[in-house]
Amino acid sequence: MKVIFFDIDDTLLGTSNFAKVAREAAINMMVENGLPLSHSEAYNLLQEIIVEKGSNYNKHFNLLTERVYGKENPMLIALGMVSYHNVKFALLKPFAKTLDILIYLKSKGYRLAVISNGRTIKQWEKLVRLNLHNFFDEVITSEEVSIEKPNKGIFEESLKRMNTKAENSIMVGNKFDVDVLGGLNAGMDGILVNSNLSEDKLNEIRKNYPEVIIIDNISQLNEYL
Ligand SMILES: [Mg+2]
Repeated sequence: MKVIFFDIDDTLLGTSNFAKVAREAAINMMVENGLPLSHSEAYNLLQEIIVEKGSNYNKHFNLLTERVYGKENPMLIALGMVSYHNVKFALLKPFAKTLDILIYLKSKGYRLAVISNGRTIKQWEKLVRLNLHNFFDEVITSEEVSIEKPNKGIFEESLKRMNTKAENSIMVGNKFDVDVLGGLNAGMDGILVNSNLSEDKLNEIRKNYPEVIIIDNISQLNEYL
């Protein structure tokens, strides 16, 4: 039985712009409730903090109020966090045909798993909120195995966890260098979806890696699997 490994972000669901819109909403709420900065000043300060601390740091709003007031402002932090999460989850949607395709692949007998460069709980949270988690036997993250795609190690660990061999498995993802090439280097087949690459770059891939299937989005997987 073949195993299909999926990337999550921009493969199963769209994430572009996501964070920006959610941050804008949080800043709006904080400014409307008394943060003494203009919207753009506050947004720029938040951006500075994100660059400084990284996007996975979980106290951006705490630090924002601390920088403005000299100490944390719990009400504004809570307002910012709640707005941020509400908007983020409202925008979190699978691509149109993701659910149909996952059902189709299961009906064909494929076993499915996820390989993601990301925080374990955050990636699970997306799958759970979208009710996609039951389709996948394993979710392997870079945080958990301390190796990131395209490094071969994370793919080898994933094969082990799914108790399968590279030649019986396929990696599906939106980033050629990270997902597809990583999978190929570990001996898997590769399918590139939703890559947003230029036609020139795609032609280069077709020439150098004729075995790679390139499709616009996940809804076309049933033409090949
Ligand atoms: Mg991705």
